[in-house]
Amino acid sequence: MDVTSADPRHVLQSVFGYDSFRPHQGEIIERITRGRNALVIMPTGGGKSLCYQIPALVRDGVGIVVSPLISLMQDQVDALQQLGIRAAVLNSSLSASERRIVEAQFAHGELDLCYVAPERVMRDRFIAAMKQTNVALIAIDEAHCISQWGHDFRPEYLQLSTLRETFPHVPTIGVTATADPPTQEVILERLHMSEDDLFVTGFDRPNINYRVVPKKRNPKQQLLQFIESEHRNDDSEHRHDSGIVYCLSRKRVESTAKFLADQGYEALPYHAGLSGTKREEHQDRFLREPGLIMVATVAFGMGIDKPDVRFVAHLDVPKTMESYYQETGRAGRDGHPSNAWMAYRLSDIVRMRKIIQSSTDNEEYRWAQHHKLNALFGYCETTDCRRRVILNYFGETDLPVDCGNCDNCLRSIDTWDGTVAAQKVLSCIARTGQRFGASHITDVIRGADTEKVRKFGHNDISTYGIGSERSKQAWRSIIRQLVAKGMVHVDITGYGSLKLDESCRPVLRGNRDVEFRHEPEPVSKRSSTKTA
Ligand code: ADP
Ligand code: ZN
Repeated sequence: MDVTSADPRHVLQSVFGYDSFRPHQGEIIERITRGRNALVIMPTGGGKSLCYQIPALVRDGVGIVVSPLISLMQDQVDALQQLGIRAAVLNSSLSASERRIVEAQFAHGELDLCYVAPERVMRDRFIAAMKQTNVALIAIDEAHCISQWGHDFRPEYLQLSTLRETFPHVPTIGVTATADPPTQEVILERLHMSEDDLFVTGFDRPNINYRVVPKKRNPKQQLLQFIESEHRNDDSEHRHDSGIVYCLSRKRVESTAKFLADQGYEALPYHAGLSGTKREEHQDRFLREPGLIMVATVAFGMGIDKPDVRFVAHLDVPKTMESYYQETGRAGRDGHPSNAWMAYRLSDIVRMRKIIQSSTDNEEYRWAQHHKLNALFGYCETTDCRRRVILNYFGETDLPVDCGNCDNCLRSIDTWDGTVAAQKVLSCIARTGQRFGASHITDVIRGADTEKVRKFGHNDISTYGIGSERSKQAWRSIIRQLVAKGMVHVDITGYGSLKLDESCRPVLRGNRDVEFRHEPEPVSKRSSTKTA
């Protein structure tokens, strides 16, 4: 294809048939075309491919695209060929004779784009071929694979640093949908790029309303209330909207799907324990029929592109902010108002921690997973605009004003001075030897007469009954917020016993105030004048 001398916008219109660039796309393409580098963090579907495809067409020579996904490579190349672009793949799926043809085209400068597997690009033979020809650019797809921080580290990606050193003057662009700021740093460093080269864009999904509610004893009932009040369409032929409900376990998927079906909702289960045909059937129905609810584990969703999913509900917390973002991102692809609703409680986070801890992954990876879970925890507990927290997490520039479309923005949060309450909890944890979990601590504070309290003689200590003015739930909320603030840790190797963090000392000494946010939970009428 001869588009040399054409400008990027012209290529966008004449080759790809689009009118205009998406935000930052034009700028990134311009930059690569001029011979500079870029690291592009954009969510899936954001339009990353054009960021290297267009410069590869506008610049002289062949664009080399390093990609780890063999099956997707061929799809991309097929699509490009349909547009009349001279594209080819070089990977293990080729026969020897097919490979020779591509190599000849490569050597003769007859390709616009060549997709190469990472282990192949580093072979001497390929490096030599690159030196012999005109290389327009190097694009590194799934660039997060270069970092152990990422969820998908690939050792062969490490060598791409060397590729940059061998071809320092060839513009290089890394693209990925998932890289938190620490991962972004690592990618920049390994690809010898600077902060200037970083573009994080497209993460905001303004039509999604984000909401996190405290999980109660009967979460299914909470879910039902949410769907009843916001996603029922009594006037339409479909009784309710399409939605996805995510649960952690297969068992909960099954029981939740059955529960919703019993309530008259069209709900189907989806998890890896179902047969392939069942899964396919359910997925097909979800895509085709309006007004269906898919109750699923994380096994569901890859490549699902249904525009009118009106809500995504989480009955259990996801593992990371990335998965939360990806899962909730399946709502509202059509741009119409949609809900991301999540019920959460502290013990879910504790359970998730145990899952990470007991995995066989190496220590560094587990550490990264804990870090990611902490970020999610922070998101659940935040009193700030949730959209701001999400965008900050991915490193996208700050929202200038609160979004006005999340629970925290919509109900202006009132906080209360919880210094005394915090002192009661902290000293009770200290007095009982930092060996007990939230429910026992709550019992001691409220002066409950339980067997455990008597067994340990906790009815004789000074903190017994100092908090009888508040309900059990109110104290649990306070403890949860103390954990979220990092003043108390939950020991996951023991039985969830609460431990004090150094940072709580100024509070205990009365040198630091603590603010809590109100939960929709009234303070008990029964009040006590006993103080700490
Ligand atoms: P990503 O690689 O970020 O997941 P793609 O590059 O596959 O996303 O693009 C997602 C979709 O958006 C594709 O169908 C693509 O053709 C389309 N697209 C990309 N840029 C534009 C644009 N400027 N205008 C219209 N559609 C676009
Ligand atoms: Zn907001």
